[in-house]
Amino acid sequence: MLLTTPLNNIDELSVLAEQEREGVCSMDAEKSNAANLEAGRLLFTQHCTFMLGAPSMADLPQPSLPEVAFAGRSNVGKSSLINALTNRKSIARTSNTPGRTQEVNFFDLGERLCLVDLPGYGYARVSRSRVKQWTGLIMNYLKGRAVLRRVCLLIDGRRGIMDSDEEVMKTLDDAAVAYQIVVTKWDKVKPGKRDAVQSTIRGQIAPHVAAHPQQIWTSSITGEGMPELRAALATLAISAP
Ligand code: GDP
Repeated sequence: MLLTTPLNNIDELSVLAEQEREGVCSMDAEKSNAANLEAGRLLFTQHCTFMLGAPSMADLPQPSLPEVAFAGRSNVGKSSLINALTNRKSIARTSNTPGRTQEVNFFDLGERLCLVDLPGYGYARVSRSRVKQWTGLIMNYLKGRAVLRRVCLLIDGRRGIMDSDEEVMKTLDDAAVAYQIVVTKWDKVKPGKRDAVQSTIRGQIAPHVAAHPQQIWTSSITGEGMPELRAALATLAISAP
């Protein structure tokens, strides 16, 4: 840093030293952020193949890779997100029919990470009983899967965190399953409303012990947030050879 004015006292000197240190740190942070984004991009250039759909717990595949599961209310945009993330048009089946996909679907990403598509929960009026059914179906998977590294819990940006999401978050907290909030359909939230939506969601997440502190704001239509989500998932994958 160039000093253009004389320093009045030692406090100013230490402030400048601090700013210099922060400057170095922020450069380091920028470099590591760029490296993470690149690692995420590279991971998702790998082949993504459908492994199997498990209709019941007995059909789960042998754990072989670290797993990241995707969960959310029906119609939250989960299939669209998985397709956008993996640059595929229809690896995950998009559907306007709530509850159509009841299987737990496993995808192998470059033999480095397994993406797990969980059935949607909590559609419309029957949310409470659906959540119970949903948790019954997959709680054993979530609790007993040693290779499960994180659940991406998808939240519709236009709707925010709803009662059924809260219930799932509590269940995951209780089971000590780490999860990260991934907000979908962010393109549908007007720029002028985004700050308010973000602070509401952050406030709701704060008391949840198993929630990752960083949220990711995505759109499967514009691709916003995909590089950041890929980077976050790359930190959980087996390292590139
Ligand atoms: P799923 O039931 O959670 O798998 O949801 P889908 O991926 O089938 O999406 C449900 C509906 O939301 C479909 O009509 C999608 O086209 C729409 N949708 C999904 N993601 C986005 C998004 O990021 N932006 C917008 N505008 N629409 C989306």
